[in-house]
Amino acid sequence: MRAFVHDQPSIRVVFGVGSFDRLADEARRLGAQRALVLSTAGQRRAAADAARRLDSAAAGVYAKAVMHVPIETARAARDAAERLGADSLIAIGGGSTIGLAKAIALETALPIVAIPTTYSGSEMTSIYGLTEGGVKKTGRDRRVLAKTVVYDPTLTVTVPPRVSATSGMNAMAHCVEALYARDGDPVTSVLAAEGIRVLARALPIVVTAPAHLDARGDALYGAWLAGTVLGATTMGVHHKLCHTLGGSFDLPHAEVHAVVLPHATAFNRGAAPDAMRTIASALGARDAAEGIYDLAVRLGAPTALSAIGMRHEDLDRAARLATENRYDNPRPIEYESVRQLLEDAYRGTRPLV
Ligand code: NAD
Repeated sequence: MRAFVHDQPSIRVVFGVGSFDRLADEARRLGAQRALVLSTAGQRRAAADAARRLDSAAAGVYAKAVMHVPIETARAARDAAERLGADSLIAIGGGSTIGLAKAIALETALPIVAIPTTYSGSEMTSIYGLTEGGVKKTGRDRRVLAKTVVYDPTLTVTVPPRVSATSGMNAMAHCVEALYARDGDPVTSVLAAEGIRVLARALPIVVTAPAHLDARGDALYGAWLAGTVLGATTMGVHHKLCHTLGGSFDLPHAEVHAVVLPHATAFNRGAAPDAMRTIASALGARDAAEGIYDLAVRLGAPTALSAIGMRHEDLDRAARLATENRYDNPRPIEYESVRQLLEDAYRGTRPLV
């Protein structure tokens, strides 16, 4: 076995149907006396419910989280936290809301309780993102790590099938790239394979029967695993492309992941044979890339960049942007091959062996 360093931060996880009822206890455990509850506008009700549960330990609700954490939103939220004398943050929602909590914590070091309701996995990572002047920058800082994560499947039954499907494919992408990451190790590989296995079985049920609590619980468990390996390893060409397409071409984050993942996997097919075998086996498929594509189709997730707003004339620029800096990936990153990957993703063809 090759040598490795496994540096896993510890996060308290409270998991299960009804665990939302334990929010006040969990906040108290962190010493919270004035918690600010964050959400998107669409989830204001859930945020108000959280504040009610916190009772006198709630400082207020801030329901203005939006995708990709614009710097102006982060500043306004930090000002609100300061004005209200917040001593902690409760983020209820997906990566957008948790991302806002991280942006506040980055400056203030306020402790975060995350209550994820999508599967994108941000709650388990020290990765933060901020968008300024249309450019999204990401970084890692342990100050933004949640202290406690509360996973309650009951809170996810209202998540629309499309969000479930695409954020689930986002989680799948973390697992896939962790399996061939330079800094992966035997533990992250076990977690990633289990993540793929659980997500592949749970997501098709979640999108057809949104109130199926067992499947919702399994999908959250998969998201937890996926977020853990995202936080512990360095991602490759897939995440690089998604970051480029989302950041510079304004495409929707989770949808881009769903579309690109089969093609990024096919791109690395010959260069990471062990990872490919593990992925295919976890999916119960003949081939990793084909299996991922078939799962996306089954979930009703988008499969072509052309269907989510990408213009064909922008593919050259996207390939240039995604290849101008060096980064880790099993197969070397070159303009021509990445351009072909994008062409395939644009058309949404099944990535046959
Ligand atoms: P999201 O947070 O943007 O949510 C998607 C939509 O689902 C929103 O409209 C939201 O209001 C809705 N929604 C969420 N929960 C709901 C519920 N219970 N009922 C009804 N509707 C609900 O989606 P996401 O895909 O989780 O997050 C995407 C963002 O997260 C991107 O900005 C991405 O870059 C970031 N992200 C960060 C990390 C990290 O480690 N830092 C990891 C993954 C994603």
